[in-house]
Amino acid sequence: MPTVLVVEDEAAIAELIAINLRHAGFEVTLAENADQATVAVDAVLPDLVLLDWMLPGQSGVALARRWRADARTKELPIIMLTARADETDKVAGLDAGADDYLTKPFSTQELLARIRAVLRRRLPEALDSAVEVSGLRLDPSTRRVTRGAVDLKLGPTEFRLLHFLMTHPERVHSRAQLLDRVWGDHVFIEERTVDVHVKRLREALQPAQCAHMIETVRGAGYRLSQQAVAQTA
Ligand code: CA
Repeated sequence: MPTVLVVEDEAAIAELIAINLRHAGFEVTLAENADQATVAVDAVLPDLVLLDWMLPGQSGVALARRWRADARTKELPIIMLTARADETDKVAGLDAGADDYLTKPFSTQELLARIRAVLRRRLPEALDSAVEVSGLRLDPSTRRVTRGAVDLKLGPTEFRLLHFLMTHPERVHSRAQLLDRVWGDHVFIEERTVDVHVKRLREALQPAQCAHMIETVRGAGYRLSQQAVAQTA
């Protein structure tokens, strides 16, 4: 279930957005200002942030800039919400690093379409579409992982880990990044936990001869590679 942080100081608007998003299958957290939003994001990275421009104290634009400047949050998907329809404001919002921009009032349909479009581009693992890499296929809607006729058995953590790696292939992910994106907790879980689950994931992929696709990049982390060749251990 994709998680959305709604940063909006007007309670009625925040509640309305929350109701509509929950109805559409999103998990919603609310923040009334930049401080609350910062605390929420420091604890757990949401899949996407709906960020109101006009907030008491620090503005939404300043907050977006701050997130973009931080390595941990620089790729956090952000949609700015604003009452302004001015073209120069739109440019300023996008300049601050927003992925998209919605002018109030907007319809629920429009909001959902924009959220899904941004997630498809920035965070495909948050959506339910099946993904295939080198014949290995993972389907989040049926929770099945297959390669040809081989049906693989994965635990829930290994499933999420594989889903993340398959939707971001060829890139090296540090253990801290994996804890953030797969476990949703980068503070209280030891990085060694990642190694344990990577080992289990490789074992689970063995029946389909896919274990070698999960590469260890020394000193950096892990990567799912299409080019990887089976190593003789
Ligand atoms: Ca506001």
